[in-house]
Amino acid sequence: MVSTAVKVLSDGVVKIDGGSLFGQVPKVDWEANVVTDRKNRVTLGLNCLLLQAGGKNVLVDTGVGSKENDKDRDNLGLVPSRLLKGLKGVGLTPKDIHAVILTHLHFDHCGGCTRLDRTGTTVPTFPKARYYVQRSCWEEACKPSPRHSRHHRPEDFLPIAERGQLELLDGDTELLPGLNVIVTDGHTKGHQMVMFKHGGERVVFLGDLVPTHHHLNLIAISAFDYSPEATMERKRQVLNEAQKQGWLVVFSHGHNTRAGYLERRTEMSILRPVEL
Ligand SMILES: [Zn+2]
Repeated sequence: MVSTAVKVLSDGVVKIDGGSLFGQVPKVDWEANVVTDRKNRVTLGLNCLLLQAGGKNVLVDTGVGSKENDKDRDNLGLVPSRLLKGLKGVGLTPKDIHAVILTHLHFDHCGGCTRLDRTGTTVPTFPKARYYVQRSCWEEACKPSPRHSRHHRPEDFLPIAERGQLELLDGDTELLPGLNVIVTDGHTKGHQMVMFKHGGERVVFLGDLVPTHHHLNLIAISAFDYSPEATMERKRQVLNEAQKQGWLVVFSHGHNTRAGYLERRTEMSILRPVEL
């Protein structure tokens, strides 16, 4: 498959504590480039991807969705879910989605997988889709360690299995010709990025391996990462490769800057942004 259309669809924004977002990098090192609010929160995008090829509509990640309670909505600075509006804008309804690929199962990536129906039951948002996630990621999310339990909400993903729409993957997989998932681990067990061809280009959706262009700094790794050392090593490899091969990289949490090409000017890669 050569992807015939690709579009970044936003599910809105989430506000995350700046300290948690950059891990061990102190605020003095990033405050000149990143805006915080009075609670020290940074506004992040909730970026999803829509790929259309061979008559299939494939969604990568689903944002936070619309099941949040008022307290979370306030703490996280959420706006009502935008993903379905974005789909409508390109003439699609939830029934038109054939596959949903999840980079991992943190609530800000899989909350939109399910929704409350009129009776208050949580059901899959995309009734005809197969949902793809790594088995190791699924197992960890179902029994998370105390450090990670607040990032996982069973109601975001258990209904997918209950309705028989879950596809568990064991390692790197070509899901459609030219559309691959590649396991990176690091951020979560079984975290995966998504790579595909678009025209003559290779596009990679990095998930939370590199959530924003501010995380091109190798040691800027969120406090949420399951294994920061693994994230750093994989990030080094992937960024090197992306720069050498001229891949178009897409960031899951870029707010104003969501995609671009990497250029090496100093030790650190810098981004030449593009709109997607
Ligand atoms: Zn995330």
